[in-house]
Amino acid sequence: MPAPDLSTRAVYALCISKTASTTKARLQALEEDVVNAADQFEAAASTADLHTLGSLKTNPSDEEDRTQLKKNYTQRLTSKDHPARDVYDKLKIEVSLCPLCAHRDVETLDHQLPKSQYPLLAVVPSNLVPACRSCNTLKSDAGPKGAHDQTLHPYFDDIGKEQWLYAQVHEVVPACVSFRVVPPPSWDSVLVARVRWHFQTFDLAELYGNQAGRAMTSLRYVLKRKAPSSIPGYLQDEAEGGADEDPNSWKAAMLQALAGNAWYINGGFALE
Ligand SMILES: [Zn+2]
Repeated sequence: MPAPDLSTRAVYALCISKTASTTKARLQALEEDVVNAADQFEAAASTADLHTLGSLKTNPSDEEDRTQLKKNYTQRLTSKDHPARDVYDKLKIEVSLCPLCAHRDVETLDHQLPKSQYPLLAVVPSNLVPACRSCNTLKSDAGPKGAHDQTLHPYFDDIGKEQWLYAQVHEVVPACVSFRVVPPPSWDSVLVARVRWHFQTFDLAELYGNQAGRAMTSLRYVLKRKAPSSIPGYLQDEAEGGADEDPNSWKAAMLQALAGNAWYINGGFALE
């Protein structure tokens, strides 16, 4: 998804616009540091190097400065009666589906680098990603330690359209599927590690497995009403339709796995 078309300086100015004069002077003195931190963040995010920004964690060192920077988010940007709230709402409505799990509705904003560790980035627009509440909660507050443990950033990471999400059918009663990451050969080792980390951080195997379980219950009723000879073609058509829409949706991966499993097609689907 495109990065928000908002300037860090303008958003910061809006956040501090209604603060008391002593707090305002304190925050005005930090403005250049915030703008510089945003520049560093954007450069590092575009090369998957967010783990190199450790020096931002200790800046500023003054505790009250750090507290006020965090309040720019918790008491200003998110506050319903603050002029900066418009920015929060604008960022939130950029997409309706959470870009981190690609499944649940957007309910909040997630800090790509947590404000508790990186207070200078608390209201930097490119560090604020629309997210569902579950993804927001599941992400650690520690920030990345290396290249491998950076979750994908929807504004900076485009992993292309090649299929990487696959499902596997388990021939049990009732039938179920599980999901895994199978990286395309074109990905480098850092991207492979990051996608696996993202998948694990947001519990996507569990989320997609639960969704697939429900979808397969509905599918059982549909398939039971069909002539057995029509089932392979039906599942193949459904799988192709799903892949056309998004080859990396849990539904497309599930249908692909079901359409390719002889046990399921030949009656496994009906067992319960
Ligand atoms: Zn989510």
